[in-house]
Amino acid sequence: MDGIRIGHGYDVHALREGLPLIIGGVRIEHEKGFVAHSDGDVLVHALCDALLGALALGDIGAHFPDTDPGYKGADSMQLLAKVYGLARERGYRLVNADMTVLMQRPKLRPHIDAMRANIARALSVPVDTVSVKATTEEKLGFTGSEQGAAAHAVVLLTRA
Ligand code: MG
Repeated sequence: MDGIRIGHGYDVHALREGLPLIIGGVRIEHEKGFVAHSDGDVLVHALCDALLGALALGDIGAHFPDTDPGYKGADSMQLLAKVYGLARERGYRLVNADMTVLMQRPKLRPHIDAMRANIARALSVPVDTVSVKATTEEKLGFTGSEQGAAAHAVVLLTRA
């Protein structure tokens, strides 16, 4: 494989009353949380898919199938560490990751630095390697109507 590799990931989870809301490994107080087989961490799932995409290794669903009871309620940070291990095994390290969460409510800004720190810790990379942003979609579409949230991630890998 080449010396540098780019990857993109995208994920969506539905929101429902009374479920836990975990984004970037941060448990956020909110009346709704993600419907998911795992902990539903939409941001970390997008990042996993970006890493797998950079390596042309398929997607998170292929590696951690939601039909596997072993991944029920799984801590997505552990899945992320496993996925990054696949990159490290192949001689790659993360140059940087940039991510955006699309969500109407709650405001994510107060939690952004904790998300960055959690992700950097899971990957054992400096925190300035990891960018997390959040935006609303101006009350439009499924994120705007608070039916769900989405996340995009892009990564650049280089041979260490
Ligand atoms: Mg997901």
